[in-house]
Amino acid sequence: MSEPLDTFARVMDDSYVTYATVADWKKQHGRPAVGYFPVYFPSEVAHAMGYLPVGILGASGRVGLDMATAHTQSFVCSISRSVFQLGLQGNLDMMDVLVFSNICDVARNLSGITQRNLPNRSIEYLHYPINNTSAHAAEYLRGEYLRLAERMVAAGGHKLETEALRKSMVLFNRKRALQEELLAIRKNTPWVVPYTEFYAALRAGATLPVETYVEMLESYLTGVRARESRSKDGVRVLVLGNFCEQPPLPLMKSVEEAGCYVIQDEALVGERWLGQMDPRSADPLLALAQGYVQNLEPMTVRFHPTVDKQADLLSKTQRLGIEGVIFTSPKFCEPALYDYMIGKAALDKAGIPYLHIEYEESMSSFENARTMVETFTESILFD
Ligand code: SF4
Repeated sequence: MSEPLDTFARVMDDSYVTYATVADWKKQHGRPAVGYFPVYFPSEVAHAMGYLPVGILGASGRVGLDMATAHTQSFVCSISRSVFQLGLQGNLDMMDVLVFSNICDVARNLSGITQRNLPNRSIEYLHYPINNTSAHAAEYLRGEYLRLAERMVAAGGHKLETEALRKSMVLFNRKRALQEELLAIRKNTPWVVPYTEFYAALRAGATLPVETYVEMLESYLTGVRARESRSKDGVRVLVLGNFCEQPPLPLMKSVEEAGCYVIQDEALVGERWLGQMDPRSADPLLALAQGYVQNLEPMTVRFHPTVDKQADLLSKTQRLGIEGVIFTSPKFCEPALYDYMIGKAALDKAGIPYLHIEYEESMSSFENARTMVETFTESILFD
């Protein structure tokens, strides 16, 4: 493996439980870190205040859930339990602030239950607007960001200054532009970058300091652009449902090995979905909030009353030359299951093949899933 890839793989591995990358950064810089639960967090604000923003994306089956299970129902998704377990057993102690948001009821309650069980920690809750079409949504979210920033000052950050925020926005815009390039390579020539490599390259961006990450991603992409790789046959699939709890990587590897190219999926979508935001705006904090509210790339996890999710799914399959859709839902994840019902009805009508696979972080056998995907692939290839 090349050097950036080695680092991406190491950082990804570290981001499940140990967070040594974060501990090292704190030791070196003497500054605080903020851990955030998926799906989206305004990292620019944290960065401008001197924090290292770190995605807390679940332990992927690498911790026992005994402590978390003692406090939660057995019918909640595994990311909520593994993140809670990491908090209880001290793995998140190096995060000076932990932020949860209202992606779903489980995440909402996780914030409260974490607060109650870790009373000495700074646990914050960020409430994103429910109705993004409201004329007041961006202004409201700006207020939420300001409130969070004040709390983060109390936990050890600098005051949020406009010029610092502008500089952070430039850096994060660059990060997303590079990630966009990687996504485009997957869309157009998926055989050039295997999914596992693509995923590690994206996931490292949720832990590494943005300055380091941008440099490494640039160097990685230079290597990727120079690759000569012959195209292989494969079914072009869209994968949906993996926006919050991340599927075990061997599951996604099985999908690829069973003959599918994952042309687009929702993994780590909050890290990369807002596109470019205007750092020269008179009010950059409002521009950041508008990026969340007005970006109309319809996204699974965001309610938008004017977006017809079924029409969007069908147009996406057409635009991307998709031959089949794989719904991957985390067990007990209501948002992903609701979207599955909506999506499947549209695909049924349009005659587009689809498959549904449920997963959880601790899943360790992938044979069944692989057989299902193989059968799915063959049914498309030999139809
Ligand atoms: S995996 Fe689904 S249910 Fe669990 S916290 Fe995320 S969105 Fe909510």
